[in-house]
Amino acid sequence: MAERTGLGQEEISWLDGGLRIEQANKMVENVIGTFQIPLGIATNFLIDGRDVLVPMATEEPSVIAAASNGARMARGCGGFSTSSTGPLMRGQIQATGVEDPFGAKQEILMHKRELIKSANEVDPMLVKLGGGVNDVEVHIIESRLGPMVVIHLIVDCRDAMGANAVNTMAEALAPRIEELTCGKVYLRIISNLADKRLARAKATFKSEDIGGHEVMDGIIQAAALAEVDSYRAATHNKGIMNGVTAVVLATGNDTRAVEAGAHAYAAVGGRYKSLTSYEKNRNGDLVGTIELPIAIGLVGGATRVHPVAKANVKILGVKSADELGRIIASVGLAQNFAALRALVSEGIQRGHMSLHSRNIAMQAGASCDLVDIIAARMAAERRISVDRAIELMKELEKEEN
Ligand code: NAD
Repeated sequence: MAERTGLGQEEISWLDGGLRIEQANKMVENVIGTFQIPLGIATNFLIDGRDVLVPMATEEPSVIAAASNGARMARGCGGFSTSSTGPLMRGQIQATGVEDPFGAKQEILMHKRELIKSANEVDPMLVKLGGGVNDVEVHIIESRLGPMVVIHLIVDCRDAMGANAVNTMAEALAPRIEELTCGKVYLRIISNLADKRLARAKATFKSEDIGGHEVMDGIIQAAALAEVDSYRAATHNKGIMNGVTAVVLATGNDTRAVEAGAHAYAAVGGRYKSLTSYEKNRNGDLVGTIELPIAIGLVGGATRVHPVAKANVKILGVKSADELGRIIASVGLAQNFAALRALVSEGIQRGHMSLHSRNIAMQAGASCDLVDIIAARMAAERRISVDRAIELMKELEKEEN
């Protein structure tokens, strides 16, 4: 991996719990330690013609294996192709108690250029990099307390996730918004429904690469249910987020922001639905697509502070937040495809539990050298439980004595 990515000795040493307590103490409050979870590399990802090694931070067994497996099956038709809308975020300013909401809306739109200029003065660095506020929208929202005038700042955040940047701008404009609307401003904050920061990915799978026509038909049936049934869609999307969150976390980004955005986007039509779709193309191949908001950055937050995140960004070889977002969308699609494929064929438990059996063995208190032996025996017997692990542990100890 070092050869492929140019990772130096120091960066490699960071991978093993590189966050020092002094650094952690500067990141959050009341620090008593650091919390580690496993970091693995998903392989086989061919994205827009480039082979990408994908670092994933997750505590869940089989996630990294499944993503790698899904990515391998996509390679037959050229891997993943991606697109995006660009790094635009929305900041909301809530004006309440406005007597004439439509008049206030016009007032704000008439002063749009002045408002954009004032907001951009707050973040000259972002503007210098080609970002900043580029539009203002006014939404009149009917609430149980009467109409509210909600101003949206549309901010190009370039390589930042943008929450701090956008929040600072929204706060700076609030007094002027009060003047223009004759209302009282309360909320001034980013919206995590980043519907102007969408990442998309597409992959095509040949039936012979994925286990035949029946598997393909099963995936299409499963996807059709997730489009219309929220109970299924929640689990379908959870599978997508297994991949998405693991990469978001590995790169030091805000997992909650991306998760809130994804789930809100899934419900944007009024009913919660799946973030991917599957269909057959003219050649009879399976086409999987994904579209979701990915608000992440390469600067800001923990991305440039956490040493492991810095090493992971280098492993990914990304040059922009936009590129990282498109990789994350591809991982979400690979993860979802692999889960659906397993679900409609052998079921996920066989693969999942044989990997999970190691966790069960550890839960039972097996020492490191016995974990793999006990896990393999339980998987072979298809009896994966803490009780069985304890029995096997005793048997092995007896054999040793
Ligand atoms: P930030 O303020 O640390 O960094 C962004 C700033 O970096 C920009 O304003 C710009 O001045 C500068 N910059 C330098 N190089 C840049 C480049 N190439 N592209 C863009 N900007 C560049 O961080 P942020 O991204 O504004 O905020 C992210 C943090 O905000 C995360 O830690 C997140 O957890 C947190 N946060 C999130 C929410 C939410 O999602 N609702 C709310 C509050 C805070």
